[in-house]
Amino acid sequence: MTSNLDYMRGVKSLRDIDVSGKRVLIRVDFNVPVDAHNNITDDRRIRSALPTINYCIDHNACSITLVSHFGRPKGQYEEKYSLKHIRKRLERLLQKKVEFVEDFEASKDEIATCSLERVFLLENIRFYEGEKQNDPALSKKLASICDVYVNDAFGASHRQHASTYGVTEYVETKVAGFLMMREIEAFSKALQEPVRPIALVVGGAKISSKITLLKAVLQKIDKLIIGGAMSNTFLKALGYDMQASLYEEAYIETARDVLEMARQNSVKIYLPVDIVITDSIEAPVDVKVVPAQDVLAGFKAVDIGPATVKLFGEAIGLSNTIIWNGPMGIYEVDKFSKGTFKIANIIADSYAYTIVGGGDTADAVDRASEAENFSFISTGGGASLELLEGKILPGFSNLDRNLDTID
Ligand code: ADP
Ligand code: MG
Repeated sequence: MTSNLDYMRGVKSLRDIDVSGKRVLIRVDFNVPVDAHNNITDDRRIRSALPTINYCIDHNACSITLVSHFGRPKGQYEEKYSLKHIRKRLERLLQKKVEFVEDFEASKDEIATCSLERVFLLENIRFYEGEKQNDPALSKKLASICDVYVNDAFGASHRQHASTYGVTEYVETKVAGFLMMREIEAFSKALQEPVRPIALVVGGAKISSKITLLKAVLQKIDKLIIGGAMSNTFLKALGYDMQASLYEEAYIETARDVLEMARQNSVKIYLPVDIVITDSIEAPVDVKVVPAQDVLAGFKAVDIGPATVKLFGEAIGLSNTIIWNGPMGIYEVDKFSKGTFKIANIIADSYAYTIVGGGDTADAVDRASEAENFSFISTGGGASLELLEGKILPGFSNLDRNLDTID
């Protein structure tokens, strides 16, 4: 059976084509986190796009046009979502002048003129309503300014938008950039040629948003380690009273199914044995560690406890491939971040192949200062989730393909 990963591995990459003298449009993902003053707090996504941009420059492409979204504007201009805040950092990283294009429709002719070595950055493509609607008119306009389309926006590759998908209809040569290929290779290594045992560490807020993932990977893994609010639903399914904790009543039955599926597939399950509980998330006065069975009346479970860290740590230590998606607690709040950070330390210190998918998990790994110590951290939250669910991402589905050996 052909997996989604096989399919996505089969697309042509930048290395398979000749860009010299070509006008190249690169869909990048510059949707970086910024603080209240528009300072970029993490530029990993910009740095991750550099190999593709530099390759085009080094191989004499003319007019390189970078297209990205930034934040979630509602189809019109909003100052705080302007990509002009990103330009300086990009110039610094590229060590090259980048021309910012406020209105790409008005500047179309200039961009479309082959002009060696010019790098343009278009204003946030989501300022155009047609972007999210995958509007053919916008797709055609984007196609009209290039000879080659390169998709390197892994973080947006699960979107069927004009700049990630629709544009491919109107460009003859369309390939994947190096980041896209790196992401696919990294997940293939974990899922297709893994060194066993494989552990999946899951957490986060909701079982409902990750149930497809759980079901899709259960047959491939050896251990399933569950923390975060997700584990609350599982503990509830075991009959524990989770009091005021976040859990999903409607998914208790699903949690039971997952436990049963795991049993049938001989997957070992690890659930919290102790948890950190609090009387309030916003203004915690009473915070304590209790056995998972003993959540106090009116309290909420907000992190895994020290015994659980030890238990999970031992299971992680015996694994050779570790996939992590979802924090172990409310890691954004200092008091409730210990479990997540300790698990980050443990995974980072292991000798396994370690891969992180999920936007908040990547953020947590960063905050734990462990980003350098993981084998791979995906730049795509939603995209990595859909990839793990077994889907072919739209950002890959229309690209040129190498001779197919797959049917
Ligand atoms: P990712 O983005 O890595 O896929 P999710 O978005 O699924 O992760 O989950 C992250 C969120 O889950 C965080 O905002 C975190 O605060 C929340 N979370 C984790 N554990 C709990 C908990 N016990 N109670 C409430 N929220 C939790
Ligand atoms: Mg998230």
